Amino acid sequence: MKAAPFDHHAPESVADAAALLAEHGDEAKVLAGGQSLLPMLAMRLTRFEHLVDVSRVPELHGITTDGDLRIGASTPQAVAEHDPVVADAVPLVARAIPHIGHFQIRNRGTVGGSIAHADPASELPAVALALDAVLEVAGATGTREIAATDFFEGTWSTALADDEILTGVRFPVWTGRQGAAVREVARRSGDFAIAGVAAAVELDAADRVARVAVGLFGVASTPVRASATEAALTGASVAEATAALADAALAAADGFDAVDDLHATGAYRRRVTTHLVQTALTAAIQEASGVRA
Ligand SMILES: Cc1cc2nc3c(=O)[nH]c(=O)nc-3n(C[C@H](O)[C@H](O)[C@H](O)COP(=O)(O)OP(=O)(O)OC[C@H]3O[C@@H](n4cnc5c(N)ncnc54)[C@H](O)[C@@H]3O)c2cc1C
Repeated sequence: MKAAPFDHHAPESVADAAALLAEHGDEAKVLAGGQSLLPMLAMRLTRFEHLVDVSRVPELHGITTDGDLRIGASTPQAVAEHDPVVADAVPLVARAIPHIGHFQIRNRGTVGGSIAHADPASELPAVALALDAVLEVAGATGTREIAATDFFEGTWSTALADDEILTGVRFPVWTGRQGAAVREVARRSGDFAIAGVAAAVELDAADRVARVAVGLFGVASTPVRASATEAALTGASVAEATAALADAALAAADGFDAVDDLHATGAYRRRVTTHLVQTALTAAIQEASGVRA
């Protein structure tokens, strides 16, 4: 099938893009890399009269570090994937992106598009949630910031208003020794995950776990933060954390309403999640403590 006709707008600034969204109301939709929206339009799962293309707005591109790591919303996923600044500042982001689809998709798909699309099986929303990222937003009446924890409301549903644009995402930069790992199960390479885990661990100078971040994707109607797992490991020595991992991973599987669908049962997702949390955290702890896997 082909998409229904639409007007394509190519604003050159965030202000112009926001004005177009305000003018056309619910007949307008932001278009970024098009890797999720265009298939939905082509399959006639949705229809908009006006597409406001933000992929070439200069203000929405770029990667900077100034305390936090900031990635402009229209930055292609592949650019962030290969940027050494990202890998150095927030390794979990760089480790997660290669799991997104195929390289052709990452060349067009944007970091902000993935987060704004809020597919619960996507890697970057889970990373943003686990790391306490901050989403920067602009609309016709001004700008605001939304904590990732308040952003993801349901499948493909976020706290963004219809006339708002996600302009960037800020990830806190951890300064201690850290390890990061992403583990997922998908039917074929490049498919969306049936269950996935993004995990990072930071050790302090005494070799104790200073911070743990665990985000789950593909398992519920939103990305999920495995808070019970994080709490069980925070403050432990490396040896204590390693010994506690099996129970901490079991706690992760209890912390969400598992989705039961064509791809897998909820019970399967819980079982796989336990295993993935354990293997991801083992890898992250080993990396943080300097052990080569
Ligand atoms: C075959 C295939 C496999 C894929 N596999 C994966 C996968 O494994 N993991 C994964 O995470 N993703 C996967 N994707 C999706 C891909 O990552 C998309 O790139 C991403 O979900 C959307 O980014 P985009 O820039 O293409 O956004 P678009 O498709 O242009 O937009 C998606 C949605 O986000 C909104 N939006 C986009 N940018 C903004 C903004 N700045 N402000 C406000 N709203 C905005 C749009 O209005 C739209 O509703 C896959 C896609 C395909 C086609």
